Amino acid sequence: MNIFEAYNETKKALENAGIEDYVFEAKQIIKYITGFSNAEILMNYTNRLTGYQQNRLTAIIRQRELRYPLQYIFGEWSFYGRDFYVGPGVLAPRADTETLIEKSLEFLKGKTAPLILDLCAGSGCIGITLAALVSDSRVLMVEKFPEAAEYARKNISRNGAANAALIEGDIFEGAGAEECGYDLIVSNPPYIPEGELDAVSPETKYEPETALAGGGDGLDFYRAIAGNYGKSLKKGGMMLFEAGIGQAAGIKKILNSYGFSQIGAAEDLNGILRAVFAVRG
Ligand code: GLN
Repeated sequence: MNIFEAYNETKKALENAGIEDYVFEAKQIIKYITGFSNAEILMNYTNRLTGYQQNRLTAIIRQRELRYPLQYIFGEWSFYGRDFYVGPGVLAPRADTETLIEKSLEFLKGKTAPLILDLCAGSGCIGITLAALVSDSRVLMVEKFPEAAEYARKNISRNGAANAALIEGDIFEGAGAEECGYDLIVSNPPYIPEGELDAVSPETKYEPETALAGGGDGLDFYRAIAGNYGKSLKKGGMMLFEAGIGQAAGIKKILNSYGFSQIGAAEDLNGILRAVFAVRG
């Protein structure tokens, strides 16, 4: 089988398995098993796969037919142009979350040596990206679960983010709140309402429920963070959350009830209000 045939076969198998992004995924899979770039694939599409590559491909297609996440199969995923280790036990980075990076960069522009706190950090993709992009920043990340924290630590080294640190702790107990004067507190907390957990995508079912379940109405973490961390922000500092679909209004209400001002929201690339923010007055 040559590369072109393998690509077509992969596309067909993934489409039959009901995978929406089968074209994108097939391309990623061929790149992964050949180690080729897009350009190299185009120049070498009649190359025959080795036996090893063919076996890898068959195994990957089997796993995707069971809807095991592609991010876990590769063991790494790209977020805002940087690569992060991922795997079972940690939520895979999503493109939607890049909205938080955009908003953070806009807010931090022109601030000198900002202090940033990333709560429920998971793989660390938010905190590490900000540490890498915001010069002279210092970033503290808080993650409760040791398995996820291990990925975050590896991702700090992988991305050479010497200005980022991680502690294991619980946001319901205010971990990381002792330090005051943060310019930005950012979080993509678990936010799926209890009753909707069964309806997540087949891939998300393989992801840790602890990274998804946000309590009865999905908003438990926003209440806890707004309540426990407001005083850790500098005056004029920003609290910035990722929101699930249809949650922006509820989160704004919470921020309002804790006395925040300049409350707003920003859309992701799909037009969903994905980032909700507010300033400590
Ligand atoms: N965006 C994720 C999903 O829809 C949920 C992540 C989260 O709860 N923070 O699967």
